[in-house]
Amino acid sequence: MEGLPVLVDSFGRVATDLRVSLTDRCNLRCTYCMPPEGLDWLPKPELLTADEIVRLVRIGVERFGITEVRYTGGEPLLRREIVDIVARTSSLGAELSLTTNGIGLARLAAPLAEAGLHRVNVSLDTLDRDIFIKLAHRDRLKDVLDGLAAADQAGLTPVKVNAVLMRGINDHEAVPLLRFCLEQGYELRFIEQMPLDAQHGWSRANMITADEMLAALRAEFDLTDADPRERGSAPAELFLVGGGPAKVGVIGSVTRPFCGACDRVRLTADGQVRNCLFATEESDLRSAMRAGASDDTLAAQWLAAVQTKKPGHGIDDPTFLQPARPMSAIGG
Ligand code: SAM
Ligand code: SF4
Repeated sequence: MEGLPVLVDSFGRVATDLRVSLTDRCNLRCTYCMPPEGLDWLPKPELLTADEIVRLVRIGVERFGITEVRYTGGEPLLRREIVDIVARTSSLGAELSLTTNGIGLARLAAPLAEAGLHRVNVSLDTLDRDIFIKLAHRDRLKDVLDGLAAADQAGLTPVKVNAVLMRGINDHEAVPLLRFCLEQGYELRFIEQMPLDAQHGWSRANMITADEMLAALRAEFDLTDADPRERGSAPAELFLVGGGPAKVGVIGSVTRPFCGACDRVRLTADGQVRNCLFATEESDLRSAMRAGASDDTLAAQWLAAVQTKKPGHGIDDPTFLQPARPMSAIGG
């Protein structure tokens, strides 16, 4: 990829990790993400078609040297063409991964692996069926666990698990979740809850911090810092459990921000480039594409958008404003 122009911002950060949302819809209603009644989903004509997604991913990889493409949502497995989109982008040479709630993965893990998907992150916040129902408003824990097992079996490894802890709901599950993941050979990451829910229910006081997560884990496990080179620009701080090789990650998006090393750029399901989950500005590649823009024009617009990336998310700034788009419509 030497010699390619790169998606560099005015602070010198280079975006090499493209997050592509395939849909804003979801079959769960995690309380930290959306209200029980769901949201006003994007009308179908506003969604990028599979051809448009493949075209933009190709431009990202071929023109800008994007090395990792992660499909997300909403719930990306709800997008009917997902296997096709993976198959059509797998020959580009970037690493392909998926963030999913796991529902449907029991059926789709093998076809996705065959189509060229490399890895999955599955969200699992609890091992308790009643808490799952309370947290996600659906009785689907078994589907998630079956999906995880299928991903492992299909070789989508290392299977990573994402967990968000909420005070008074599942914050007593840090240890059982890690024990479960160690037993199954999954790599667990705890994520601090961010102000991205459509209901604006987030409060800093209620958030379980990275420090609290680590204190809970250290009461039960011996954690040592993993080699920092393993982290690279990844948001998770990694710890060896019991001296390794098993690992656990903590993503302190709020209390330990990693914006200075950020290498991400996002494409929403309706074709908007976003530099950050918390960005308030977007660049509309869909309209440009539908107006007949060439690959050169789209690439120039994309680069111009990345150049305006802000230095940080500013959650701690008194003037911080939660973005109008909720997480599910951005692509987490
Ligand atoms: N539906 C898929 C899933 O749940 O994995 C993919 C999209 S979801 C928005 C991506 C990730 O964002 C999940 O791991 C989820 O737990 C996390 N997430 C959603 N809302 C969040 C919030 N307010 N704070 C922190 N993480 C959040
Ligand atoms: Fe759906 Fe994922 Fe949001 Fe949960 S976090 S409601 S699974 S999009």
